[in-house]
Amino acid sequence: MPLANHKSSVPVIVDEDKCIADKGCRVCIEVCPLDVLWINEETGKAHMKYDECWYCMPCEADCPTDAVKVNIPYLLS
Ligand code: SF4
Ligand code: SF4
Repeated sequence: MPLANHKSSVPVIVDEDKCIADKGCRVCIEVCPLDVLWINEETGKAHMKYDECWYCMPCEADCPTDAVKVNIPYLLS
């Protein structure tokens, strides 16, 4: 899987101001069937580590703080 190096272009964006991963939340990481979300070591917040996504949405739906935004490609929406 390619590493997600370009933060602004990956399918899933985490709002670091809202994310409470630094308080122990791992919901989005646990619900993702592809295991592409992980903790950013620099910020302590969740982010998209691998640029792969099924657009299945539980990460966005289950995040307790609405920090996750899945950008569904136009052709799939
Ligand atoms: S579910 Fe939301 S608050 Fe929890 S780690 Fe993921 S983005 Fe952060
Ligand atoms: S939409 Fe699905 S595959 Fe994509 S990051 Fe969220 S849980 Fe993982």
